[in-house]
Amino acid sequence: MRRILLFCVAALIGSSALIAQNVNKIYVPELRTESRQEVVIPDVDGYEVLKGDFHLHTVFSDGDVWPTYRVQEAWRDGLDVIAITDHIEYLPHKKYVGGDFNTPYEIAKPSADKYGLMLVRGTEITRKQGVIGHFNALFVEDANLIPDDDPFVAIQNARKQNAFILFNHPGWAVDTCLVTEFQQRVFDADMIDGIEVVNHFEFYPRVVSWCIDKELPMFANSDEHGIISEDFRTFGHDSKIERFRPMTLVLVDERTQEGVKEALLEGRTIAYTDNMFMSTEHLLLSLFEACVDMETTSEGEKKNSYKYTNNSSFPFVISVNGSGKKVIPPFSTIHFSASNQKDLEITILNMWCYEDEHPVLIAE
Ligand SMILES: [Zn+2]
Ligand SMILES: [Zn+2]
Repeated sequence: MRRILLFCVAALIGSSALIAQNVNKIYVPELRTESRQEVVIPDVDGYEVLKGDFHLHTVFSDGDVWPTYRVQEAWRDGLDVIAITDHIEYLPHKKYVGGDFNTPYEIAKPSADKYGLMLVRGTEITRKQGVIGHFNALFVEDANLIPDDDPFVAIQNARKQNAFILFNHPGWAVDTCLVTEFQQRVFDADMIDGIEVVNHFEFYPRVVSWCIDKELPMFANSDEHGIISEDFRTFGHDSKIERFRPMTLVLVDERTQEGVKEALLEGRTIAYTDNMFMSTEHLLLSLFEACVDMETTSEGEKKNSYKYTNNSSFPFVISVNGSGKKVIPPFSTIHFSASNQKDLEITILNMWCYEDEHPVLIAE
């Protein structure tokens, strides 16, 4: 009898501990950040390719999330570098938080260090869209020294700190992409270092041409204000991610903030959104050649056979000798034949190197 009683007590303790453990496991929020989706891109032209988002908001301006949450999201999405760029003029939550423009960076930095994510100190100079516009100041030293009633002076203040100035979302909230008088003045003063060709859900093909003509790097940023996974990260039927959030791919010599800044100043960026890439023809072809192994498998009288293997997380859409459309899915191989011709002309349809222009590769 005594033996049986002891057994029952032990069983009771055991089962209650189990329940507690299960309940704890279900409600530990850190679980959401424990797995990182790696975005695989081989080195391009000898440079490591970092995945960045240089335009993000938090509760410290008009965003909905705390700064550390931006770090966790970015780490989970496979990013390497982000900038939190809260507005300095538009602070709807100021009654509760904010006022010191360096605070979002300071809150997020320990978390970024923990996750091994690079955090760039930034801010957004925000004036009337369609007249003045919005400009991100990246790599600032002290965001509190930037505000000024005159937006030109605010940009100059950022420049005094050697900030990189990004011309944000030229086509947002206006019907077309036009350079205003103020923006032309900033261009003429040589104070614009890069332009967003993609912002959140928008892609501005004309701005691709601006960047080529002005020799400025292209950016694709999320400008996320809410929860990023609700807007991007689209999953297929087998739970695999089919497309990623907007990213600015940065080709760096070294994986440091200095390395990132140098790459941006030297124009080594590729803008990505919705499985499309925008950059110079040279960088786009280098990216394609780095990701896709191109092999000729047999040669006949009239037909040649080819085998293309994609070693990256992205699909590529090509047209061979101007006919048809072939998709090379991520981490996949395709075989195809082409009529007898000395060289293959591969047009990469999901890449843009000018408004309405795709890069063309001549393959042997
Ligand atoms: Zn903006
Ligand atoms: Zn913004």
